[in-house]
Amino acid sequence: MSHQVLARKWRPRKFEDVIGQEHVIKALANALDTGRIHHAYLFTGTRGVGKTTLARILAKALNCVGTDGNGGMTSKPCGVCSACTEIDSGRFVDLLEVDAATNTKVDEMRELLETAQYAPVSGRYKVYIIDEVHMLSKSAFNAMLKTLEEPPGHVEFILATTDPQKLPITVLSRCLQFNLRNLAPNLLAEHLTKILKSENVPFEARALDMIGRAGEGSARDSLSLLDQAIAYGAGAVKEAEVATMLGALDQTYLYSLLLHIANRDAKSLVAEIETIATRAISFDLTLKELASVVAKLALVQTVGAEAVDGAEAKKLTEIASRFAVDDIQLIYQIALLGRRDLHLAPDEQSGFTMTMLRAIAFLHGGNAGATTTPISATATPAPATGGYSSAASTNPTEDKRIAAEASLPYGAPSPSPPWASGASSTSDVANWSAFVSARRLTGMAGMLAKQAEFLGYSGGVLSLVVSEAQKHLADKKYAEKLRADLVGVLDEGLRINVTVGAASGVSVAAVEERAQREREQAAVQSISSDPFIKNLADDFGATIDLAAIRPVG
Ligand SMILES: [Zn+2]
Repeated sequence: MSHQVLARKWRPRKFEDVIGQEHVIKALANALDTGRIHHAYLFTGTRGVGKTTLARILAKALNCVGTDGNGGMTSKPCGVCSACTEIDSGRFVDLLEVDAATNTKVDEMRELLETAQYAPVSGRYKVYIIDEVHMLSKSAFNAMLKTLEEPPGHVEFILATTDPQKLPITVLSRCLQFNLRNLAPNLLAEHLTKILKSENVPFEARALDMIGRAGEGSARDSLSLLDQAIAYGAGAVKEAEVATMLGALDQTYLYSLLLHIANRDAKSLVAEIETIATRAISFDLTLKELASVVAKLALVQTVGAEAVDGAEAKKLTEIASRFAVDDIQLIYQIALLGRRDLHLAPDEQSGFTMTMLRAIAFLHGGNAGATTTPISATATPAPATGGYSSAASTNPTEDKRIAAEASLPYGAPSPSPPWASGASSTSDVANWSAFVSARRLTGMAGMLAKQAEFLGYSGGVLSLVVSEAQKHLADKKYAEKLRADLVGVLDEGLRINVTVGAASGVSVAAVEERAQREREQAAVQSISSDPFIKNLADDFGATIDLAAIRPVG
């Protein structure tokens, strides 16, 4: 299986493989081909757009000796000479790569820069790549400045930062700056399409659109999400699963749609539909999910809240109380028919909008806006499905219970998050993997939670550690997303501190991956020792393709 490796495997090794940064590449190629190389470059741009990737390709371009060993500096590094292969595998002695985020001490910086005076050992240039350079201390900057002011001819600086404003002007003024662009969602989706085709992974285009958007301009994040989606979908990337994984088709969207219908509030309804459209969720899927929520509402109305999953029961009961029984039947029917006819609509969004407006137009119940009025199943005369309605009313205790639930004003603050009660046994944050598994953490927050290991929780500070390989997750943007998801569970003033360090392999992801490997091995074992298959192999001279064996479920 190919999970967890796409970002590394598909890291561009040539300028032409870098996507979305043509303006930078053109300028660099020009400089390389004419031999007019600046001694210090600064690549700026948000995380994951390719700053250090470009820096490494530039290092190759400067040091490549070509296939025959006699080549010079080039905009098309050969990829096979010793310099190219050693840089690709991270063992080129004249390339010194520093992550300033973890290496801010002035002594280390000075030590590093002292080596600049010596000629390169095997390369043409001694290349210093300093990532997240804005994190250097003031004195470390001063140490670097000396070398930047009078750089030896064989030294090349490539600095990278997400935050150029934090660089001293003295450093900025000595660098040739290139601003890397955020990658557009469609560009990312195209890139992912190319990768999955070449990896022979089945996919739905919609799913990749969604990941392209969720990647927020970052190629690396998109690929991490893609890896996650492949694992999540057991080897295929499907829209419905990706929507769940990203939390894109959050049930709250569907709940809002239904409440707008109940309120006959067409304006809010249309605005909600716009929001759904911007998240690249297909309206076909939305109608399907909507129908399944409406089916649950019907169950809540007729059988009772215990008929649905505990976590959703409260919200569903609230919504169910806003509709007459026959209206729920009607909306269900409208959703199914709307989905059937969606392909006939001028476009999906207008088809969906018409379907939702139809639901408002055909509502029987006159309870719009009556937020605190209990609706009993018998309250509304229902010509179309009257039989159903009265059948429901034969159980008076049921009606009373629905009425009691319904008398809660909609929107009253919940005493606790809906899932908190169900998860009380795992609310102990120290048992991190159980704590994470019990929560529906999605998107990058879920990724961070699964890849991180628990260090401690005290004074409202949750400390996590991620391994070096996952260090891109130690980003305050992700910590903030996770914090937002956990703030109702842990302290109100929760802070999350993520460090990069030695991980002991107990993260949820590591445990899951081990379990997956064990299942694969067990599957291989059971296939190889199966007497029927063994006979088949003996009788027909068949061989077993062990690599193709996948555990079921
Ligand atoms: Zn080369």
